[in-house]
Amino acid sequence: MSPSATVAERARRVRFLVMDVDGVLTDGRMILSARGDELKFFHARDGVALALARRAGLLTAMVTGERSPIAKARGTRLGVDAVVLGARRKAETVGALLARYRLRPDAMAYIGDDLLDVPALQRVGLAVVVADAPAEVRAVAHVVTRARGGHGAVRECVELILRAQRSWRRVVDAYVREHGGFGLR
Ligand SMILES: [Mg+2]
Repeated sequence: MSPSATVAERARRVRFLVMDVDGVLTDGRMILSARGDELKFFHARDGVALALARRAGLLTAMVTGERSPIAKARGTRLGVDAVVLGARRKAETVGALLARYRLRPDAMAYIGDDLLDVPALQRVGLAVVVADAPAEVRAVAHVVTRARGGHGAVRECVELILRAQRSWRRVVDAYVREHGGFGLR
């Protein structure tokens, strides 16, 4: 991919969307109890976006440096293709995912929010960063979402990719019809 490729050109090649969890699918905050129980907030609209992504034929994965079983549970519920916990060297993790699915870096989008994501963002065809990410992380992005992490940033990222691929209207229409609607004009 040429360094000067536009966002639309990059998005058209994406076959695999890889997401960080904390600060991307959540707002980054965690609720911890004295017993060590942990709670996080996810956004339902990001869940629908992943259903749309799958319907458009994209592979999806969640990659987190944490070892929380919450990420695994959310990933299973959303039907993502892979969940990688304990990923502290994310460039290696995305490299392994590309090898597993026999894809080139151009075919991967990665959405992240913090320094641990930078090595992965630097290797993929489409690097997406949430609005409230620190400046150092926004600096390596091809796209910064309007939404903050945990507030629909993944929804926005999926829409950007599928619109570039001209499949957004089709999958949205099919989703609405599948749930009893009449489709959209
Ligand atoms: Mg994060």
